[in-house]
Amino acid sequence: MAINNMAENGDTAKDFIRAIIEQDLKSGKHKEIVTRFPPEPNGYLHIGHAKSICLNFGIAKDFSGRCHLRFDDTDPSKEETEYIESIKEDVSWLGFDWGKHLYYASDYFEKLYQYAVLLIKDGKAYVDSLSADEIREYRGTLTEPGKDSPHRNRQPEENLDLFQRMRDGEFDDGECVLRAKIDMASPNLNMRDPTLYRIRKLPHPRTDDRWCIYPMYDFAHCLSDAIEGITHSICTLEFEDHRPLYDWILDQLPVPCHPRQIEFARLNLSYTLMSKRKLKNLVDRGSVENWDDPRMPTISGLRRRGYTPEAIRYFCDRIGVAKTNSVVDIALLEHCIRDDLNKRAQRVMAVLKPLKIIIDNYPEDKVELLDAENNPEDPGMGMRKIPFSSVIYIERDDFSENPPPKFFRLAPGREIRLKHAYYIKCKGVEKDPKTGEAVCLYCTYDPETRGGWSADGRKVLGTSHWVSAAHALQAEVRLYNHLFTTPNPADEKDFNTVLNPGSLELFSSCLVEPSLKDAKPGNLYQFLRQGYFYTDQDTAKTGKLTFNRTATLRDTWAKIKKAEGQKNNKPRISS
Ligand code: ATP
Ligand code: MG
Repeated sequence: MAINNMAENGDTAKDFIRAIIEQDLKSGKHKEIVTRFPPEPNGYLHIGHAKSICLNFGIAKDFSGRCHLRFDDTDPSKEETEYIESIKEDVSWLGFDWGKHLYYASDYFEKLYQYAVLLIKDGKAYVDSLSADEIREYRGTLTEPGKDSPHRNRQPEENLDLFQRMRDGEFDDGECVLRAKIDMASPNLNMRDPTLYRIRKLPHPRTDDRWCIYPMYDFAHCLSDAIEGITHSICTLEFEDHRPLYDWILDQLPVPCHPRQIEFARLNLSYTLMSKRKLKNLVDRGSVENWDDPRMPTISGLRRRGYTPEAIRYFCDRIGVAKTNSVVDIALLEHCIRDDLNKRAQRVMAVLKPLKIIIDNYPEDKVELLDAENNPEDPGMGMRKIPFSSVIYIERDDFSENPPPKFFRLAPGREIRLKHAYYIKCKGVEKDPKTGEAVCLYCTYDPETRGGWSADGRKVLGTSHWVSAAHALQAEVRLYNHLFTTPNPADEKDFNTVLNPGSLELFSSCLVEPSLKDAKPGNLYQFLRQGYFYTDQDTAKTGKLTFNRTATLRDTWAKIKKAEGQKNNKPRISS
């Protein structure tokens, strides 16, 4: 699939789903709209789920209806309570509230069983004793019809007896299943007598060992929707072929209502995997630290990276709701967080790779407190004082002994501006005798340039950020890059072979300005020229200030859009 840089279906004010709902309200088909977000608790939620959450809860909000949070907990072999808790936390953090409407498919196990019994009594379901392999073989292919199972014509009494005995635990896993009796020659494979119940002799996180048969997704899902009075059951496109089954089951049974299933395109993001199962594989293999590793596209990972709920909701808004699948450029997601943090992040100075500077003509015991604005975008965020003294640190990359062309930073004999402080000029370099690397620079400052401006209008090549040696605080800084080296890792035979070995860059001896001494986990900053940073939870655990880079300052999305604009517009005629 090509990456869609234009992927902004925008106009969420009325996407095709909202248009349907509006019509249903107008025609009187529904008085109140009820949607649901139905995660399977088999992993942590990812940004794709955020799209579904924003859509389902967003619709409920727009139409003054309600949205249920329902756990689709029908497979005890993969599901855990830890996942249930994380999902609740993530939905709340995104800013949505299910109120009292928290449900579990497992709450309906008895009802679902009784519905299955009704199907059996009606001759619309039967117990099959073929093995899983045989069932697959009998199903046929897209081009060939399936074959009837030899047990297809078991009579309701026999089926009822066998189904009860399945429930009672008389059979082993895989010995038999309950199947719907529909049509083994249907062109839709989902309609060739799909399995409704299977045996799984496993305890369930909520029903413990009360059940050893569990309903399949296709059976549990439509009935749970109907039991809860859902009006619009919104799901991703893969379920389009399941819709006839969704409707068939509801048509056979005395259900309280018949929700309408509507499919939309799932979110795919470049350089990203979007499947709980695959993300779990990364966690289990130790390719990332955990589900909330800031390189993960999970909601918890994005949170720890420094994403805000506002930025994620804004992103979901901008990508809109479409009927065809595409891949959204991850640069758009990054653009959305930058846009948000630009407004709210306090600017501070941090030096990742420190290089010492001694300012020869600055009094050794003097300390000045200089004024610095907290956010040029928002004067309301005020000013702060930053200490300046005779020994400071700048970024090692901001100095070059033999500057290449277009290097606009410090070099021997050159003058630059220290942000918020003074102009300095490099007079000498002390080098490590072994490596030849600069270890200390000797500079002079111009006292007439306080605040970083020269009265004589003298220009400098560049501006550097810096910290005062005597006042700076030690910090650890983590920079993140794409987790994968290719834009479509899901297309690889084994995505583990395209993991980016440089996805995490760790800097453990950084120096930050003293105003960060009270930085708490969750606090957000812009480190001048370095990007946006989030104070990591490890700060509280280890006592060492630790910052995760949320995003760089360079907006690749804006660049892409600008280039496209230039391509699409006719060249301007200049006079
Ligand atoms: P995964 O493969 O990651 O487990 P899933 O679809 O199996 O995804 P569920 O827990 O069943 O995960 O999904 C809950 C809801 O989220 C479903 O309605 C599903 O359609 C929706 N959803 C899942 N992935 C995406 C995505 N990438 N984009 C939009 N919606 C999604
Ligand atoms: Mg799933």
